[in-house]
Amino acid sequence: MGVDCVWSFLLLIYCGWFNYYSPVSAVPMHRASEGSVEQFWQLSDLHLDATYHLTDDHTKVCASSKGWNASKPGIYGDFMCDSPYQLILSALNYMKQTEQQASFMIWTGDSPPHVPENELSTEAVINCIGNLTSTILNFFPDIQVFPSLGNHDYWPQDQLPVSVNEVYSAVAKFWKPWLTDEAISTLKKGGFYSQLYKSQTTQQSLRVISLNTNLYYSPNHLTVNMTDPASQFEWLEHTLESSFQKNEKVYIIAHVPIGYLPYARNTTAMRKFYNERLVMLFRKYSSIIAGQFYGHTHRDSLMVLLDEKGIPVNSLFVAPAVTPIKGFPSLDSNNPGIRLYQYDPTDYSVKDLRQYFLNLTEANIEKKPIWKLEYIMTNTYSIQNLQPESLYGLVKQFREQHSKQFQNYYKHFLVSYDSSYVCEGHCKTTHVCAIQYLDEASYTDCITGGVL
Ligand SMILES: [Zn+2]
Ligand SMILES: [Zn+2]
Repeated sequence: MGVDCVWSFLLLIYCGWFNYYSPVSAVPMHRASEGSVEQFWQLSDLHLDATYHLTDDHTKVCASSKGWNASKPGIYGDFMCDSPYQLILSALNYMKQTEQQASFMIWTGDSPPHVPENELSTEAVINCIGNLTSTILNFFPDIQVFPSLGNHDYWPQDQLPVSVNEVYSAVAKFWKPWLTDEAISTLKKGGFYSQLYKSQTTQQSLRVISLNTNLYYSPNHLTVNMTDPASQFEWLEHTLESSFQKNEKVYIIAHVPIGYLPYARNTTAMRKFYNERLVMLFRKYSSIIAGQFYGHTHRDSLMVLLDEKGIPVNSLFVAPAVTPIKGFPSLDSNNPGIRLYQYDPTDYSVKDLRQYFLNLTEANIEKKPIWKLEYIMTNTYSIQNLQPESLYGLVKQFREQHSKQFQNYYKHFLVSYDSSYVCEGHCKTTHVCAIQYLDEASYTDCITGGVL
């Protein structure tokens, strides 16, 4: 069955399913919570595999297992496969049903599955993003969504171009319900945009800057040797300067994160040149950047940006994926996750986060998608808030030998996939250095100095 046929088939199922699940009482678009805390969702790395189906031949459960045996396939997925549609629907349904009120949502990219290049096409990628956009719109017709493009949101994957193309034009159309004309115009040209979020409860405005960091991603051959692909740096600096002048606060959202990968030593996700340039820019404007939010690694991790003097100036969050697929080079995996942040609407500082997850093994056995709270960050780590100083204090505790705090952090890194996995010595040094040091000089010092 071709991907398009699968889509038609899926949409039929989806329509029936949606009628059944569509709740009568919609969650209102926005309501200020008591006190001064408001919330927003982050969804990342949905990676829908429309071929997923249960069959006795475990090599045929999903195209994303690439011919390998699925491990224990069930209705909600398998650790060898990308997300079945049912898994994505269960996540959105949980977000909708929960009592939590959110002002907006960020959606940090990667809709298509991990399959060989010849099993996808520009059309298939566009259809996939379009279908997931309508799915989100159907669940949350009234919520403001700020999306970002991922490295899989293009065909061939990773090769996001620096000028107008079919994919940017298609997503600009899909995302029109959420974005302003100005945002749409830069999205079409370079896959990035910025847009003001106007709070209904405070005067302080927030600018969401959605970057196309896929232009800086190491496997993108189109941007090799370019100093400023799609002039995004020039645009970013101009946008940050203008926000600074206007006293706006800024959230940076993007798919591929800045900094070093927590699981692969000496490896930045972006080319080093771009990474250094972004670090410099974010340091310069750290006083207005109230938070940075990424996806792509499929794991749950933190970073703290330090200035040149070693003072913590920014908190950065990498949210885990909805897809449970095992990703190279890890042998381990992640349970599906979705995340809710709490912020102070007077200055948009991040106060807390609630990480929700689906224990995939349990969900498949019970044949029920039992999404649960995995942890509340301030409670789990006994910290006041998620400000840079608090996170920096926490990572100092991580550095202690046999730190219980770090053991917890590592359990969450895998979204409670398997608590028996331990990370000590080399593994722990790689994590702890990646959390604190985003530029090459300070990261290298950390690694060579060792942590333990
Ligand atoms: Zn991904
Ligand atoms: Zn990605």
